[in-house]
Amino acid sequence: MKARPERLALLGHPLGHSLSPQMQNAALRAANIPLVYEAVDVPRRALEDTIESLRRTRAAGNVTIPYKLDVMAACDRLTPTAIAVGAVNTFWTAVDGALVGDNTDADGFLAAAIQVMGAPERGPVVAVLGAGGGASAVLHAINRWEPRAVYLYSRGMERARSLAARFAGLGIDVVDSAADAVRSATIVVNATPIGMSGDDVPVDVDVLSKDAVVLDLVYRRGETALVRAARARGLRAQDGLAMLVEQGALAFERWFSVKPDREVMWEAVREAR
Ligand code: NAP
Repeated sequence: MKARPERLALLGHPLGHSLSPQMQNAALRAANIPLVYEAVDVPRRALEDTIESLRRTRAAGNVTIPYKLDVMAACDRLTPTAIAVGAVNTFWTAVDGALVGDNTDADGFLAAAIQVMGAPERGPVVAVLGAGGGASAVLHAINRWEPRAVYLYSRGMERARSLAARFAGLGIDVVDSAADAVRSATIVVNATPIGMSGDDVPVDVDVLSKDAVVLDLVYRRGETALVRAARARGLRAQDGLAMLVEQGALAFERWFSVKPDREVMWEAVREAR
Protein backbone atom coordinates (compact mmCIF):
# COMPACT_ATOMS: atom_id res chain seq x y z
CA MET A 1 0.00 0.00 0.00
CA LYS A 2 1.30 3.47 -0.82
CA ALA A 3 1.83 6.09 1.87
CA ARG A 4 0.40 9.60 1.42
CA PRO A 5 3.43 11.49 0.04
CA GLU A 6 5.03 13.89 2.52
CA ARG A 7 7.28 15.40 -0.11
CA LEU A 8 7.20 15.60 -3.93
CA ALA A 9 10.38 15.86 -5.96
CA LEU A 10 11.69 15.78 -9.51
CA LEU A 11 15.14 14.20 -9.65
CA GLY A 12 17.43 14.99 -12.60
CA HIS A 13 20.47 16.92 -13.75
CA PRO A 14 20.36 19.54 -15.15
CA LEU A 15 16.76 20.60 -14.57
CA GLY A 16 16.64 24.16 -15.84
CA HIS A 17 14.55 23.16 -18.88
CA SER A 18 11.87 21.20 -17.01
CA LEU A 19 8.25 22.36 -17.05
CA SER A 20 7.18 19.67 -14.56
CA PRO A 21 7.43 21.83 -11.40
CA GLN A 22 5.08 24.51 -12.79
CA MET A 23 2.72 21.87 -14.15
CA GLN A 24 2.57 19.72 -10.99
CA ASN A 25 2.36 22.68 -8.63
CA ALA A 26 -0.61 24.03 -10.60
CA ALA A 27 -2.29 20.62 -10.28
CA LEU A 28 -1.55 20.47 -6.52
CA ARG A 29 -3.03 23.95 -5.95
CA ALA A 30 -6.13 23.05 -8.00
CA ALA A 31 -6.60 19.89 -5.89
CA ASN A 32 -5.99 21.77 -2.60
CA ILE A 33 -3.10 19.48 -1.71
CA PRO A 34 -0.70 21.41 0.58
CA LEU A 35 2.56 20.12 -0.94
CA VAL A 36 5.15 21.72 -3.19
CA TYR A 37 6.72 19.75 -6.04
CA GLU A 38 10.41 20.61 -5.88
CA ALA A 39 13.04 20.34 -8.61
CA VAL A 40 15.96 18.47 -7.03
CA ASP A 41 18.89 19.05 -9.37
CA VAL A 42 21.43 16.56 -8.10
CA PRO A 43 24.96 15.86 -9.36
CA ARG A 44 25.79 12.17 -9.74
CA ARG A 45 28.10 12.11 -6.70
CA ALA A 46 25.15 13.07 -4.46
CA LEU A 47 22.60 10.76 -6.08
CA GLU A 48 22.76 7.84 -3.65
CA ASP A 49 22.38 10.08 -0.57
CA THR A 50 19.54 11.98 -2.22
CA ILE A 51 17.62 8.78 -3.00
CA GLU A 52 18.07 7.65 0.61
CA SER A 53 16.77 10.96 1.92
CA LEU A 54 13.74 10.72 -0.40
CA ARG A 55 13.02 7.26 0.97
CA ARG A 56 13.38 8.44 4.60
CA THR A 57 11.06 11.40 4.06
CA ARG A 58 8.36 9.27 2.39
CA ALA A 59 8.72 11.15 -0.85
CA ALA A 60 7.05 10.56 -4.18
CA GLY A 61 7.97 12.13 -7.48
CA ASN A 62 9.43 11.85 -10.94
CA VAL A 63 12.79 11.08 -12.44
CA THR A 64 14.23 12.54 -15.60
CA ILE A 65 17.47 12.46 -17.61
CA PRO A 66 19.98 11.06 -16.69
CA TYR A 67 18.73 9.06 -13.67
CA LYS A 68 15.86 6.87 -14.90
CA LEU A 69 18.03 3.74 -14.75
CA ASP A 70 19.80 4.65 -11.48
CA VAL A 71 16.52 5.18 -9.64
CA MET A 72 15.19 1.95 -11.12
CA ALA A 73 18.19 0.13 -9.63
CA ALA A 74 17.63 1.80 -6.23
CA CYS A 75 13.92 0.88 -6.01
CA ASP A 76 12.79 -1.94 -3.71
CA ARG A 77 9.85 -2.81 -5.93
CA LEU A 78 8.96 -2.11 -9.56
CA THR A 79 5.65 -2.17 -11.38
CA PRO A 80 5.33 -4.50 -14.40
CA THR A 81 5.36 -1.43 -16.68
CA ALA A 82 8.65 -0.15 -15.23
CA ILE A 83 10.15 -3.60 -15.73
CA ALA A 84 8.88 -3.85 -19.32
CA VAL A 85 10.05 -0.34 -20.25
CA GLY A 86 13.31 -0.75 -18.36
CA ALA A 87 13.20 2.71 -16.78
CA VAL A 88 11.55 4.53 -13.85
CA ASN A 89 10.06 8.00 -14.35
CA THR A 90 7.65 7.91 -11.36
CA PHE A 91 8.16 6.70 -7.79
CA TRP A 92 6.50 6.71 -4.39
CA THR A 93 7.11 5.30 -0.93
CA ALA A 94 4.94 2.44 0.29
CA VAL A 95 3.63 2.26 3.90
CA ASP A 96 6.30 -0.36 4.65
CA GLY A 97 8.97 2.19 3.62
CA ALA A 98 9.77 0.53 0.29
CA LEU A 99 10.61 2.74 -2.67
CA VAL A 100 8.37 1.74 -5.60
CA GLY A 101 9.26 2.58 -9.20
CA ASP A 102 6.81 2.91 -12.07
CA ASN A 103 6.79 4.31 -15.61
CA THR A 104 4.05 6.60 -16.93
CA ASP A 105 5.87 7.63 -20.14
CA ALA A 106 4.40 4.70 -22.08
CA ASP A 107 0.75 5.40 -21.20
CA GLY A 108 1.46 9.15 -21.47
CA PHE A 109 2.65 8.58 -25.03
CA LEU A 110 -0.48 6.57 -25.90
CA ALA A 111 -2.84 9.18 -24.45
CA ALA A 112 -1.02 11.97 -26.31
CA ALA A 113 -1.02 10.01 -29.58
CA ILE A 114 -4.78 9.51 -29.38
CA GLN A 115 -5.23 13.27 -29.02
CA VAL A 116 -3.72 13.90 -32.45
CA MET A 117 -4.85 10.88 -34.45
CA GLY A 118 -7.71 9.22 -32.56
CA ALA A 119 -7.51 5.45 -32.11
CA PRO A 120 -4.91 4.21 -34.59
CA GLU A 121 -5.93 2.07 -37.54
CA ARG A 122 -5.37 -1.64 -36.92
CA GLY A 123 -1.86 -2.72 -37.79
CA PRO A 124 -0.09 0.63 -38.33
CA VAL A 125 3.48 0.77 -39.62
CA VAL A 126 5.53 2.58 -36.95
CA ALA A 127 8.96 4.19 -37.29
CA VAL A 128 10.87 5.03 -34.10
CA LEU A 129 13.95 7.25 -34.25
CA GLY A 130 16.25 6.92 -31.22
CA ALA A 131 16.99 3.99 -28.92
CA GLY A 132 17.05 5.45 -25.38
CA GLY A 133 14.53 5.50 -22.53
CA GLY A 134 11.92 7.45 -24.53
CA ALA A 135 12.10 4.99 -27.43
CA SER A 136 11.78 2.09 -25.00
CA ALA A 137 8.56 3.57 -23.53
CA VAL A 138 7.20 4.07 -27.06
CA LEU A 139 7.98 0.47 -28.08
CA HIS A 140 6.26 -0.85 -24.95
CA ALA A 141 3.26 1.39 -25.68
CA ILE A 142 2.79 0.50 -29.35
CA ASN A 143 2.42 -3.19 -28.52
CA ARG A 144 -1.19 -2.22 -27.85
CA TRP A 145 -1.64 -1.20 -31.52
CA GLU A 146 -0.47 -4.56 -32.85
CA PRO A 147 1.68 -2.87 -35.51
CA ARG A 148 2.09 -4.53 -38.90
CA ALA A 149 5.74 -3.47 -38.97
CA VAL A 150 8.12 -1.49 -36.74
CA TYR A 151 11.27 0.20 -38.03
CA LEU A 152 13.91 1.43 -35.59
CA TYR A 153 16.79 3.73 -36.36
CA SER A 154 19.40 5.13 -34.01
CA ARG A 155 22.85 6.51 -34.70
CA GLY A 156 24.23 3.95 -32.23
CA MET A 157 23.32 0.70 -34.02
CA GLU A 158 24.30 -1.52 -31.10
CA ARG A 159 21.89 0.29 -28.79
CA ALA A 160 19.15 -0.06 -31.43
CA ARG A 161 19.81 -3.78 -31.82
CA SER A 162 19.69 -4.48 -28.11
CA LEU A 163 16.47 -2.48 -27.74
CA ALA A 164 14.95 -4.43 -30.65
CA ALA A 165 15.97 -7.67 -28.95
CA ARG A 166 14.19 -6.60 -25.72
CA PHE A 167 10.98 -6.07 -27.69
CA ALA A 168 11.40 -9.15 -29.86
CA GLY A 169 7.63 -9.70 -29.95
CA LEU A 170 7.29 -6.62 -32.15
CA GLY A 171 9.55 -8.09 -34.88
CA ILE A 172 11.45 -4.80 -35.12
CA ASP A 173 13.49 -4.10 -38.23
CA VAL A 174 16.63 -2.14 -37.27
CA VAL A 175 17.59 -0.03 -40.28
CA ASP A 176 20.65 2.07 -40.95
CA SER A 177 19.10 5.41 -41.86
CA ALA A 178 16.25 7.55 -40.59
CA ALA A 179 14.92 7.83 -44.15
CA ASP A 180 14.69 4.03 -44.46
CA ALA A 181 12.86 3.87 -41.14
CA VAL A 182 10.13 6.37 -42.05
CA ARG A 183 9.54 5.71 -45.76
CA SER A 184 6.55 3.40 -45.40
CA ALA A 185 5.51 4.42 -41.86
CA THR A 186 2.00 5.56 -41.02
CA ILE A 187 3.21 6.76 -37.59
CA VAL A 188 6.64 8.40 -37.17
CA VAL A 189 8.00 8.96 -33.66
CA ASN A 190 11.02 11.10 -32.87
CA ALA A 191 12.58 9.81 -29.64
CA THR A 192 15.97 11.50 -30.14
CA PRO A 193 16.67 14.90 -28.53
CA ILE A 194 17.09 16.44 -32.00
CA GLY A 195 14.99 19.60 -32.18
CA MET A 196 15.28 20.64 -28.52
CA SER A 197 17.13 23.72 -29.68
CA GLY A 198 17.85 25.05 -33.15
CA ASP A 199 16.06 23.95 -36.29
CA ASP A 200 17.57 20.51 -36.82
CA VAL A 201 15.23 17.69 -37.78
CA PRO A 202 15.85 13.95 -37.24
CA VAL A 203 14.57 13.16 -40.74
CA ASP A 204 13.59 15.07 -43.88
CA VAL A 205 9.78 15.20 -43.93
CA ASP A 206 9.74 15.00 -47.73
CA VAL A 207 10.52 11.28 -47.35
CA LEU A 208 7.34 10.66 -45.30
CA SER A 209 4.25 9.17 -46.90
CA LYS A 210 1.37 11.57 -47.44
CA ASP A 211 -0.81 10.10 -44.69
CA ALA A 212 1.89 9.74 -42.01
CA VAL A 213 1.29 11.11 -38.50
CA VAL A 214 4.32 12.64 -36.76
CA LEU A 215 4.66 12.32 -32.98
CA ASP A 216 7.66 14.20 -31.62
CA LEU A 217 8.66 13.47 -28.00
CA VAL A 218 10.62 16.71 -27.98
CA TYR A 219 8.98 20.02 -27.13
CA ARG A 220 10.21 23.58 -27.20
CA ARG A 221 8.91 27.11 -27.46
CA GLY A 222 7.26 27.59 -30.87
CA GLU A 223 7.17 23.80 -31.45
CA THR A 224 9.94 21.73 -33.02
CA ALA A 225 11.21 22.17 -36.58
CA LEU A 226 10.03 18.59 -37.31
CA VAL A 227 6.45 19.34 -36.27
CA ARG A 228 6.41 22.63 -38.17
CA ALA A 229 7.81 21.01 -41.35
CA ALA A 230 5.36 18.10 -41.15
CA ARG A 231 2.38 20.44 -40.76
CA ALA A 232 3.64 22.56 -43.66
CA ARG A 233 3.44 19.36 -45.74
CA GLY A 234 -0.16 18.90 -44.62
CA LEU A 235 0.57 16.05 -42.18
CA ARG A 236 -0.87 15.68 -38.70
CA ALA A 237 1.89 16.34 -36.18
CA GLN A 238 2.26 16.96 -32.44
CA ASP A 239 5.22 17.82 -30.23
CA GLY A 240 6.03 16.28 -26.83
CA LEU A 241 4.03 18.69 -24.70
CA ALA A 242 0.90 16.51 -24.70
CA MET A 243 2.98 13.51 -23.60
CA LEU A 244 4.58 15.62 -20.86
CA VAL A 245 1.16 16.60 -19.51
CA GLU A 246 -0.23 13.07 -19.78
CA GLN A 247 2.74 11.31 -18.13
CA GLY A 248 2.61 13.94 -15.36
CA ALA A 249 -1.15 13.56 -14.89
CA LEU A 250 -0.79 9.77 -14.68
CA ALA A 251 2.00 10.17 -12.10
CA PHE A 252 -0.28 12.45 -10.03
CA GLU A 253 -2.95 9.75 -10.17
CA ARG A 254 -0.45 7.18 -8.90
CA TRP A 255 0.58 9.40 -5.93
CA PHE A 256 -2.85 10.62 -4.81
CA SER A 257 -5.35 8.17 -6.37
CA VAL A 258 -7.30 11.10 -7.83
CA LYS A 259 -7.25 12.61 -11.31
CA PRO A 260 -5.61 16.05 -11.51
CA ASP A 261 -7.15 18.92 -13.46
CA ARG A 262 -5.45 18.42 -16.84
CA GLU A 263 -6.68 21.79 -18.13
CA VAL A 264 -4.86 23.55 -15.29
CA MET A 265 -1.72 21.55 -16.11
CA TRP A 266 -1.98 22.55 -19.78
CA GLU A 267 -2.37 26.22 -18.84
CA ALA A 268 0.74 26.00 -16.65
CA VAL A 269 2.95 24.48 -19.36
CA ARG A 270 1.67 26.87 -22.03
CA GLU A 271 2.47 29.81 -19.77
CA ALA A 272 5.89 28.48 -18.77
CA ARG A 273 7.31 27.49 -22.14
P1 NAP B 1 18.24 9.07 -24.20
O1 NAP B 1 17.96 7.87 -23.35
O2 NAP B 1 19.46 9.87 -24.01
O3 NAP B 1 18.23 8.53 -25.74
C1 NAP B 1 18.38 9.40 -26.83
C2 NAP B 1 18.47 8.60 -28.14
O4 NAP B 1 18.63 9.57 -29.19
C3 NAP B 1 19.68 7.68 -28.22
O5 NAP B 1 19.36 6.59 -29.07
C4 NAP B 1 20.74 8.56 -28.88
O6 NAP B 1 21.69 7.87 -29.62
C5 NAP B 1 19.89 9.34 -29.85
N1 NAP B 1 20.53 10.63 -30.15
C6 NAP B 1 20.95 11.56 -29.25
N2 NAP B 1 21.45 12.64 -29.88
C7 NAP B 1 21.37 12.35 -31.21
C8 NAP B 1 21.75 13.05 -32.38
N3 NAP B 1 22.28 14.28 -32.32
N4 NAP B 1 21.54 12.45 -33.58
C9 NAP B 1 20.97 11.21 -33.65
N5 NAP B 1 20.57 10.51 -32.56
C10 NAP B 1 20.78 11.07 -31.37
O7 NAP B 1 17.05 10.09 -24.14
P2 NAP B 1 15.48 9.78 -23.91
O8 NAP B 1 15.18 9.74 -22.46
O9 NAP B 1 15.10 8.61 -24.76
O10 NAP B 1 14.83 11.12 -24.47
C11 NAP B 1 14.86 11.43 -25.86
C12 NAP B 1 14.09 12.73 -26.07
O11 NAP B 1 12.72 12.51 -25.76
C13 NAP B 1 14.57 13.86 -25.14
O12 NAP B 1 14.55 15.08 -25.85
C14 NAP B 1 13.53 13.87 -24.05
O13 NAP B 1 13.36 15.16 -23.47
C15 NAP B 1 12.28 13.47 -24.82
N6 NAP B 1 11.28 12.87 -23.95
C16 NAP B 1 10.12 13.54 -23.81
C17 NAP B 1 9.13 13.03 -23.00
C18 NAP B 1 7.83 13.79 -22.88
O14 NAP B 1 7.11 13.59 -21.90
N7 NAP B 1 7.49 14.61 -23.85
C19 NAP B 1 9.33 11.82 -22.30
C20 NAP B 1 10.54 11.15 -22.48
C21 NAP B 1 11.52 11.69 -23.30
P3 NAP B 1 23.07 7.39 -28.96
O15 NAP B 1 22.76 6.10 -28.28
O16 NAP B 1 23.99 7.28 -30.11
O17 NAP B 1 23.47 8.48 -28.00
